[in-house]
Amino acid sequence: MVKAKGACLCGQLKIEVEGEPIVMVHCCCTDCQKASGTGHMTNARFHEKNVRITGEYTRYGLKAKSGNINYRHFCPICGSRGFGTNSGRPGQINVNVGILDDSSWFRPQMVIFDCDRRDWDEFPEPLPRYDEYPPEN
Ligand SMILES: [Zn+2]
Ligand SMILES: [Zn+2]
Repeated sequence: MVKAKGACLCGQLKIEVEGEPIVMVHCCCTDCQKASGTGHMTNARFHEKNVRITGEYTRYGLKAKSGNINYRHFCPICGSRGFGTNSGRPGQINVNVGILDDSSWFRPQMVIFDCDRRDWDEFPEPLPRYDEYPPEN
């Protein structure tokens, strides 16, 4: 079982997770590239009952390729990314793993939107790669 906590750069937005992740991915979609300013975002999705969020955050919603609205939540003071939600997956929270102090439990299961991945953004593990989000997830 995963138990981890963390905070944004300025420390006011705090996230705690406790429980099993639903899925763990590297997302290379162009939206994640722009939002992160780098090659991909690394996310672990949990049921919302397993995530505790305290502090202030701002969110930005954008229609994803799926047609669902993807909301990216971030600290309004320091801009650190915290978590995401998706209108197509109510009750679930995508935690941006880098905000957590300990992510030694993180085991990426797949690379999604591999079609958008930049050549310089490679993963050492032999992971399944998808050009979209597999529908069963
Ligand atoms: Zn902050
Ligand atoms: Zn993405």
